[in-house]
This record gives sequence, C-alpha cells and structure tokens, in this order.
Amino acid sequence: MSYHSHTLNSVSHTHIIGRTDPITGDTIKENDSIVFCLVCQSCFLEESWNYMNNRHCEQIQTLNFVPLPPPQLIAKKKEQKLIAELKDSMINPLPALILPFVFGFISYYIAESDKSGAVLIGTTIGLCLGVFIGWLSKTQVIKEFTGHKSTSFSIYESYMEIENVKFYWNEIEQINFKRTMLVEFDDRYGTKKASSHYPSLEIYLNNGEFLERELPTTNYPKIKPFLFGLAWASQFTSIFFYTEHEKEYGLVQSFDRNYKGTIKIGVPTQLAYNPEEN
Ligand SMILES: [Zn+2]
Repeated sequence: MSYHSHTLNSVSHTHIIGRTDPITGDTIKENDSIVFCLVCQSCFLEESWNYMNNRHCEQIQTLNFVPLPPPQLIAKKKEQKLIAELKDSMINPLPALILPFVFGFISYYIAESDKSGAVLIGTTIGLCLGVFIGWLSKTQVIKEFTGHKSTSFSIYESYMEIENVKFYWNEIEQINFKRTMLVEFDDRYGTKKASSHYPSLEIYLNNGEFLERELPTTNYPKIKPFLFGLAWASQFTSIFFYTEHEKEYGLVQSFDRNYKGTIKIGVPTQLAYNPEEN
C-alpha cells in the first residue's frame, strides 16, 4: 500500500463524516477508510482511490494525517488576532467629547454670574452632567434617534465580525466593497463639487445568503486600514473592490499588485474626490 488511509471515528472526524465521495457519490460514514490527495486534499473512500489507480492531481502522494477541522472549531480554542476594525465609536467621538465641555462652560458662567463663589461646584456639576449626557449620546437609543449608524466591522484571523455576528472565511464566497461618488456641476461657474456616498459591503455566503451593510463613515483615511484588512483577507475569500474615489482607486490597484489573494477590481465609471472630505 503506497498511500495513507485513515479510519474515521465519530470523535475527531466529525468534520469529514457526511462529506460526499467525489467518485461514487456515496456519503462518507464513520469507520470508512479514506484517503486524502496530497495536492488538492480532496477526500476519497479508499475504494475510489484504488479505482483511480491511487492517483489524483497527476500524482500518487497522499496526506499522512486527517486535515484539521474548518476554522470555526479552531477559533473557539484560541485568541483571535484582530487584523482591522471599523467602528462608529472610532469615527464619531465628537458629541461625547464636546458635550462635557459645553455643559462645563455653561455651568461655569451660571456660577460666575451668580457671584456666589460657587464656581467650582457649578463647574463640577456641569462637568458631571456633561459626562452623563456624553455617555447617553453613545447609547443605542440616542444613536437611533440621531440616526448614527451602529454597524461595526472587524476582521480577525479566521473570520469577519459584523454587528457581533461572526462570518468565517470558509463560509464567505465573496466580499464586495463599493463606493460611489456624487459629482455636481455648477454650469454658471463651470465648477464641480464631489462628495462621497457611504461605501457599502456586500457579503455573499457559500450557503447562498447575502447581506449588505453600509460602512459607518465616508472618510477615506479612516476606511483605509480596513481596506488593507480586506486585501489581507483575500487569501481566504474573493474580494471585489469598486470605488469611484480617486485616491482609494489608486490604493486598491496597489493591492492587486501586492497581494497574492483573489482580488478583483471594478473599472470605475468616474473618478473624483473632495479634498476637504478626503
Ligand atoms: Zn487531488
């Protein structure tokens, strides 16, 4: 026997049991003897391997171990390294920062005009109130009320997390990043003004499901690290970039040159960016 065969058990081979033999179409069961092609790691019933004269991918070598379970089982065991992240708390810290100061100053002036000598107390109360309102503004209710988007996107080693839901790389067929620009012409002055629509992510799962989410910002420098994260993920899943943002288009073209993964780039119908918006 010039190949390695493995007898499946129900304890450590649950990720193999239930697969289909590519030759016979039979379901692979517990106690079956199976062989993995070394090149493509396809799994065959031993009889099928023999039927192929112990050859696949134009060679006869086989794996001498059963490959590990897919990433979701590994992920539970080890700490995941964060590759890139895009959150609205990183993007919109202003209300939370400014409010304490505004209320602090208001109460300072109230205390001052009183000439009561209670400046310190007034300021302290004001600051506390400000901090409280700053905290409130970060809570979900206020966010929804003010229309802030609460979607967060994180790229980890084995998965992408969106709104606290994990999508493992082997579950994702393709991710599309899309940004379109709005260019308005002013005929009277012959000027044009560009602004960005919110970029979106479309995620196509292997099970046929599809989801689409808007990114929480249009700001190019803030999105840039996340795009590097997506390019990094192209080693696991197909990544498609379409952007009409001039600088961003240059960036994604450089990804295509520098990353070995599956990266596709759409040809933009226009290119523009607003230097004030970045
Ligand atoms: Zn093969």
